[in-house]
Amino acid sequence: MRKLCSCGDSMKLALRTVVFAKKVNITNVPVYSCSLCGRNDVFHGVKEDVGRLVGELGTRPAPRSIPFEEVHEWAGVLFRALAQAESLQASDVAKAMEERTNQLLDLWLIASSLGDETWKMELQTRLSQLSAQYIS
Ligand SMILES: [Zn+2]
Repeated sequence: MRKLCSCGDSMKLALRTVVFAKKVNITNVPVYSCSLCGRNDVFHGVKEDVGRLVGELGTRPAPRSIPFEEVHEWAGVLFRALAQAESLQASDVAKAMEERTNQLLDLWLIASSLGDETWKMELQTRLSQLSAQYIS
């Protein structure tokens, strides 16, 4: 899971803790890092959701820790793939992605058969978080 850095070296995808306002730790945020120049880029597909989360915290947040892998499905998939190996391998990520998508689709079928619109909406949001990675 790599992309090219502007310095010409490759950036490696990992899960990192992003500290906001020196008080709030957002853990397991997918970030591309370059070991040569030290540049960090939050993964494109989750940028908007990290921003929204920070916006919700307001300007004077209470100290806390937020597990981003529970907020965002893509972070969750990477988190599970990392549990299988020391670094992120595309094949583990693809497998974790497929498993999670199938789980969510199963839940969606249950929600649908129950006619639970709120649950269906939530699951649709979660499924869209998994397809957002293809946009980047
Ligand atoms: Zn670089």
